[in-house]
Amino acid sequence: MPTILDEWRARARTAQETDRQVHRLYHLAYRIAPIGRILTNPNATADDVAYAIIRIPRALAAASRLLTRPGVAEHLETPYALSFLTTAERALTAPSTQLLKTANTARAAAAAASANNDDLRCVLFGDIEDRCRYLVDATHSGWTRHEHVASEAVLGLAARWGLSPGARIPRPTGDDQPPVPAHVAQEVAHRTDIRARCAAGIRCTRTTCLAYGAVWAHDATGQETFLCLGCIPVANAERAARGFGPTLQAVPGGVPADAHYSVTLYNGSGPGRRTVTCMTPQQAQFTAETVRPFNNTGYTIHVEGRSA
Ligand SMILES: [Zn+2]
Repeated sequence: MPTILDEWRARARTAQETDRQVHRLYHLAYRIAPIGRILTNPNATADDVAYAIIRIPRALAAASRLLTRPGVAEHLETPYALSFLTTAERALTAPSTQLLKTANTARAAAAAASANNDDLRCVLFGDIEDRCRYLVDATHSGWTRHEHVASEAVLGLAARWGLSPGARIPRPTGDDQPPVPAHVAQEVAHRTDIRARCAAGIRCTRTTCLAYGAVWAHDATGQETFLCLGCIPVANAERAARGFGPTLQAVPGGVPADAHYSVTLYNGSGPGRRTVTCMTPQQAQFTAETVRPFNNTGYTIHVEGRSA
């Protein structure tokens, strides 16, 4: 026959076991909280979002298993742990998650369009991505009616252009395309103008000239630049006037066929630079004039990987 002391011991063991399970619940809750926050981070990538979408339901399933253990659901500290899990669960279906998925689909589609020289889709999808990420960021200060309307508008636009999350990157279609916002159409026209003038090739680096279709020129010291044929003698006269000997001349044979162009975009008013590799002079000049990672972006273009 069990004594009172035995009964007390048994009860203490059960309480200890419950505490252990509640401790596991907290461990789970603390691990899932930052994963839930991925879904409110405007810079979350497609991989980040996919990771969160897999991990959160797994954590929720593990939590509901723990809640079936004796005493766990009734434990005083359980509701607080569950509040973290509920927050993460809500994030799964929150508008910001839909916006992030759309932003990442739009980013991939814009990159594909850019590779196809499809200015319309490149600008439009880039704009959709920016608007989605902006709205995700705005969730932190609380959405007003304005953001709800803007969110529905951008998700609707994305859907009409085939950018619904999980959709394959849409192929360019014929004439029956959905309407484009006016500011996007303007930006597309601007890019089309730039593309047209870059058809002549790289721009002369003399700031007083800036004609397109410059040739690759070098001097005996290894200095290389792009100058138009008219500017080479002018640049040499300037060099001579400054007492600087080496003469620039067009590189014989021009840029080798197997070479590529490296466009360095630098911050004209602070630290930071980015390099983009291009296969043609047209693409290099177009990149130099359209990729603007800084407020005050400057650029230089170099020939790379030449066999000579
Ligand atoms: Zn020139």
